[in-house]
Amino acid sequence: MPGDGIGPELTEATLKVLTQIQNSFQIRLNIVQVEGGDQCATTRGVPLPAETIDTIRGAHACLKGPVGETAADVIVKLRILFDLYAGIRPLKSYPNTPAVRSDIDMLFVRENTEGLYKGVEFAVNADTMVCLRVITKGACERIATYAFEAARSRRKAMNVTAVHKANVMRKTDGLFAQTCRDVAKAYPDVTLDELYVDAAAMQLVKAPQDFDVIVTTNLYGDILSDEGAMLVGGLGMAPGANIGDDFALFEPIHGTAPDIAGKGVANPTSMILASGLMLDWLGTKYSDSACTKAAHSIEEALINALKAGVLTQDLGGKVKTDAFGDAVAERISD
Ligand code: ATP
Repeated sequence: MPGDGIGPELTEATLKVLTQIQNSFQIRLNIVQVEGGDQCATTRGVPLPAETIDTIRGAHACLKGPVGETAADVIVKLRILFDLYAGIRPLKSYPNTPAVRSDIDMLFVRENTEGLYKGVEFAVNADTMVCLRVITKGACERIATYAFEAARSRRKAMNVTAVHKANVMRKTDGLFAQTCRDVAKAYPDVTLDELYVDAAAMQLVKAPQDFDVIVTTNLYGDILSDEGAMLVGGLGMAPGANIGDDFALFEPIHGTAPDIAGKGVANPTSMILASGLMLDWLGTKYSDSACTKAAHSIEEALINALKAGVLTQDLGGKVKTDAFGDAVAERISD
């Protein structure tokens, strides 16, 4: 789903990389393009047509560009429809980028289905609005388990930081924090730290290199991971994944960037890396080592392109979106 704004440009650049992947590895991808988002709402009358949902349902995974004003009707709906409970956002410093340090390598694991984004809002009267924060034990358990499993599969010292504000929101964040502590008992090899969300925002700026896996609730994760993206060179560097038990959807973490849309200057790294996350997930899910290798080759090709000075405008260079896609594609090797 190319989406809106810079989405189609990023998709085009990413497809160059995926085409090269199929030439270099024993992988055949049947890529089906679907409509969704603001443009689709204008031309079709609905932001997420039934046939788009059906096509996604019939696929092994979904790669999606950003959508604009209709995001709540598209991505939020897809997360709920496919129960994509884990919002995954890896943030890493890559060479030649405006990352604040060269040794950042953290993974945000954000609860994706409840919290303040559950959408339970109502008006008490014209002057008073209420938004309910829903936190359930089951959702806390599965996101904490995902975070601990992820910590085990990473190369870094195994650590999970649970971010909450249980000193103020004693019931909701209290349940989240306690569940993280309970889940941690099954992972004696992984250390668990806890940070209040305000302290986490500060610590991210002060010592981002100290973080490994950060697990948190929906709104905190949304905000902190955007903050984290700026530490590694901006939103254009940040891929995301929405993962459930049976299906997963991959996308850049940023929006449609209307200020640069249509100019061919957007950084497609976010979506190229998202396609790498997709291949990595497919490799694990379907025990397909070619997919896993291909995923690594995407990251390596990207690093080599950056090292060679292939930089888009946001990274201080002049390379256009499609040329960036070509540069990564030509560095793919098996
Ligand atoms: P939306 O309302 O769709 O979320 P937005 O402008 O509020 O859009 P983003 O699209 O997330 O928020 O982007 C914020 C800014 O970050 C953009 O204006 C753009 O300058 C920059 N940006 C985001 N993504 C990229 C990218 N892939 N490459 C370069 N710059 C980007």
